[in-house]
Amino acid sequence: MSNTINKDKIHGSIFGGFVGDALGFPIEGHSRKYIIDYYIPKIFNHDILKMGRGYNEKTKLNGPIYESKMNECSWFYKFGQYTDDSQLSRLVLETIIENNGTFEYAKYGHEIGKIFDSGKIVGLGKSSQAASKKLLNGLIDYKFSGTPNAITNGSAMRSDILGVLFHKDAEQLYEVVTTCSMMTHMSSKAVAGSLCISAFVATALNLNNKDVFDSDIFINNAMHLIKNVDREYMGFLLQFRTILKMNELDAYNKIKSFDTVSWGKNKISSGVVSSTLYSIYCFLKNHHSYSKCIIMALSAGGDVDTIAKMAGSISGAYLGISHIPNTLIKRLNDNNAWNAKDISKMIDKVLDYEIKIKK
Ligand SMILES: [Mg+2]
Repeated sequence: MSNTINKDKIHGSIFGGFVGDALGFPIEGHSRKYIIDYYIPKIFNHDILKMGRGYNEKTKLNGPIYESKMNECSWFYKFGQYTDDSQLSRLVLETIIENNGTFEYAKYGHEIGKIFDSGKIVGLGKSSQAASKKLLNGLIDYKFSGTPNAITNGSAMRSDILGVLFHKDAEQLYEVVTTCSMMTHMSSKAVAGSLCISAFVATALNLNNKDVFDSDIFINNAMHLIKNVDREYMGFLLQFRTILKMNELDAYNKIKSFDTVSWGKNKISSGVVSSTLYSIYCFLKNHHSYSKCIIMALSAGGDVDTIAKMAGSISGAYLGISHIPNTLIKRLNDNNAWNAKDISKMIDKVLDYEIKIKK
């Protein structure tokens, strides 16, 4: 992967995703109104740096908690904790490094099984968990381990990193993303959503952000990958030119209406259709600003860690690492391990390889 790559944009994509995920974690499942009124105003002042996620005994709610209120909490994650979305993306890097530059599907599947089994997964998804049990014991081939008809975003949320690693070759990207998606989510919707996110990341890396922005390039590249996968998802993408002209709330409700998975009125669910399409909407509407893109993603309500992860990795891929607030990058951790320095070293190590794929 050596000389022609843009390290700044690759680090931007991976950290852009991780930071989005960590920002969304304390408020995962909360409503749009709560997040806009209560959480967003705190993001870019110092309050948030004292925040974590836990269960508040007084309010009987899971959500953001301040350090001063720690005694009232039955458990606590430090701010910067990222979730399964980023943990499973990190696992792609780990797998490649352990195999000296080869990405082996069976090994990645086994590693997914191992991390779920270890109990270290934060905010796990049920379809991935069910598949992980099959992947761990190796009794079933990774080609058949996915949960049938799973239409949630558990594979799309980790397809961004594949967009990073295989952004130069659309054919290879299609194959890797489809295979990795089917490992846990066996449905054309989950594959289409995964391809869409990875295509947006790849396109963002391949384009120069100094050139005139054209959302059609992104949408057309995604449609090219999805055309034989899911015609309904294609149809939703075709409506994007109109959606981008709507006011924000109408666009939000329109994208919500595409999904059969619902978490209620003021939330975008973990359904793969609405969460992936809302992520690309957040990027397309805010391509010039990582912070604005993430704020819109968080404001969706519902499955916001994943929406902000996917939107963040596209935005970071387009704009580069310098656009992501360093104060937030520095807080990243997974139960006080795997911090930004560790992740950064892993990215550089993987970039030194000419990555091979082993089926
Ligand atoms: Mg998550």
